Amino acid sequence: MIKIPASLLREIYGHTEESFPNECCGLMIGTTDKDKNHTVQAFRTCKNLNQERARDRYDMDPLDMLRVEREFEKSPWDIIGIYHSHPDHPSRPSQTDTDRAWPDYSYVIISVQQGTVAGAQSWVLNETEKKFYEEPLLTEGDSR
Ligand SMILES: [Zn+2]
Repeated sequence: MIKIPASLLREIYGHTEESFPNECCGLMIGTTDKDKNHTVQAFRTCKNLNQERARDRYDMDPLDMLRVEREFEKSPWDIIGIYHSHPDHPSRPSQTDTDRAWPDYSYVIISVQQGTVAGAQSWVLNETEKKFYEEPLLTEGDSR
């Protein structure tokens, strides 16, 4: 399960809509409880380095990843997942997404249809089966 405060999810949606018709990506930062449930506390947008196939691929800039790792090094939060958009495609992981996935991360995929967010799903890799399973995505009102 992944919990995302409504205000953060709205900002993430904003990033995916601004980037349309290209795919965009970013890192989600937060906490993991003993049952491996994630709670998102912050996110950072990352550059999509893929220019040839930016409409259906993303290559997250490794420098962005380093930058975010350093930023949160001394905080109690960690990188807990990656979000990316699927312009004019459903929010299901592609074969490329599956091949590149790392265990223990939540992969939030946001479907953007004609420039507007149509839905989002979160996925977790089963490492043994090399297969994604959907996890519940909970949006929380802001009590912060
Ligand atoms: Zn994808």
